[in-house]
Amino acid sequence: MYRCTVCHFDVELDDVEIRGGYRACICVRCYSRLVENEKRMSKELRRELVAFMAEVA
Ligand SMILES: [Zn+2]
Repeated sequence: MYRCTVCHFDVELDDVEIRGGYRACICVRCYSRLVENEKRMSKELRRELVAFMAEVA
């Protein structure tokens, strides 16, 4: 079981969109919301996001 870094709800592995460090992830709902807000979500930005989550985990 993972916990979404954004909404802090427990997330089933199937619903994990981005997996960062230990138990750090973003669920599909938050991810799609982020992508909607950040239309320019690039691979680089995604990598930075993962690195950020690894730090806060
Ligand atoms: Zn979430």
